[in-house]
Amino acid sequence: MSYVSFYRKYRSQTFEDLMGQEHITRTLQNAIRQGKIAHAYLFSGTRGTGKTTTARLLAKALNCDSGPISEPCNQCVPCRSITDGTAVDVVELDAASHRGIDDVKEIRNNVQFPPMALRYKVFIIDEAHQLSSDAKDAFLKTLEEPPAHAVFILATTEPHKIPITIRSRCQQFDFRRGSVADIHARLKFVAESEGIEADDEALDLIAMNAEGSWRDALSLLEQVLAYTDGRLTPADVYAMLGTVTQDLLFRLGDLVASGDEAGAFEAAREAAESGKDLRQLLRSLADHFRNVLFAAATSGRETRSFSAEFLARLREQAAKFKKSRLLRIIEVFSQAEQGARSSDQQKLLLELALLKTISVAQAEATQPKPSRPTTPAAKSPIPAKPSTQEHVPEAKPKPKPAAPESTEKPPVSGEQKLPKFDTIRQKWNLVLQHVRSISLPAYALLVEATPIGVKDGSIVLQFKHLGQANLIRDEAQKRKEPTKKKVPQMAIEQVFGVPNVDIMCELGKQEHESAAGRADDAELPNPFEAAGDETLRDVLDIFNGKIVDD
Ligand SMILES: [Zn+2]
Repeated sequence: MSYVSFYRKYRSQTFEDLMGQEHITRTLQNAIRQGKIAHAYLFSGTRGTGKTTTARLLAKALNCDSGPISEPCNQCVPCRSITDGTAVDVVELDAASHRGIDDVKEIRNNVQFPPMALRYKVFIIDEAHQLSSDAKDAFLKTLEEPPAHAVFILATTEPHKIPITIRSRCQQFDFRRGSVADIHARLKFVAESEGIEADDEALDLIAMNAEGSWRDALSLLEQVLAYTDGRLTPADVYAMLGTVTQDLLFRLGDLVASGDEAGAFEAAREAAESGKDLRQLLRSLADHFRNVLFAAATSGRETRSFSAEFLARLREQAAKFKKSRLLRIIEVFSQAEQGARSSDQQKLLLELALLKTISVAQAEATQPKPSRPTTPAAKSPIPAKPSTQEHVPEAKPKPKPAAPESTEKPPVSGEQKLPKFDTIRQKWNLVLQHVRSISLPAYALLVEATPIGVKDGSIVLQFKHLGQANLIRDEAQKRKEPTKKKVPQMAIEQVFGVPNVDIMCELGKQEHESAAGRADDAELPNPFEAAGDETLRDVLDIFNGKIVDD
């Protein structure tokens, strides 16, 4: 037996079996029961929504030996011949490949003669909008005076391209996209019929990726099964689709909701190191928050867009956000995704997008009416505690999950020494977060610098990339803003309790050398190359740092 695709093998053979189009099947069945059979139908809807399947079901219902009947028996000769595609009185024309006037003329000739074996001659014209203008005109003439034994079913993905003169003579039905829950149920049925064990989450993923098309869903299932041994798991689907996991999206969503900036950095790093396509991740994040917004908007109502389990998960996350902020979060991720198309700094864009969405989510949660802070420290997510409180010794430390930094050992008055360099390196992300909360440009400047040591009470930072030159130059031009000048020092003070720490800047040796040898970088001034360069002085001014001599 030759191979039959799932879509054909599991094509619905009864109206009852046809899922997701109950509004159509009910109307058609009622019409058949009442003997109100139209001569022309227009089935419109996106691909894979069941238009042709319904057309064949209608052909069977009209021609069944015990019909016209609201549900074909599928046993009699007419029913079986239509299922097999051997019924001479059921003519299927694909207008994508047969779009000319001659094809329509053939139909016009054919339609004059009564059916040979069946009750009705049924003409199914797929992709009907693709008929040429001449062909459409010719077809209209046929529709104007149809013989009593003829039924025309036009199927189209683009009904607006069908002339109104034709449309007005048809009974029109709009086919809906399948919901994730319905498609999931169908996939489950097929998997069980094929003797395949499949995880519900895997079926959800396939259903979501099919975007409402039953045909796409079944062919995706077929493709994934080619990769699968035994049990169908979400990992199989992810592997085939190359998409990021729902778990990662929910995890990132939780980080944004809780304002966990350190966690966001960590997640971005993990994603980058695992070789994920970060642009795809940004797009998935936008989609994810769109789903969260959908879940929030439909809260308390039934919806068939997602499986119940997935919807519950979305709603749980949605409850952590103000609805009004979700739209803004979607925008941030979409914009970052667009930016990532033309940038090689995808990790930076991902980090910035996560931090931006965190501030969007937090701003609403803590400040109903956001206003620009007058002092930079006021915008910090972890405001410095009053010093008096910090001096009170506590019998036992209280856990403060909302602000992990505050569990730091409070700085003892008079203690001016930096902690060990290892500690500085471990907590550098916290410094960056504080920098970010004070000044985004300063953050962009600092984010790719690496702390490489402590020298004479100063922190030594190494910049590794020439691309930062542009950022640094821009920052230098804006340096007039007094708040920016001491940003890194303020951040370091907040994390380590040591004020006014000097910062030394270095350019990584490798980059330094390779930069000198690369002609295409010649136009890009390297601010670190010449000590006398004004740009460098500007930068050092911002950082209140000095050049390391070695
Ligand atoms: Zn029958």
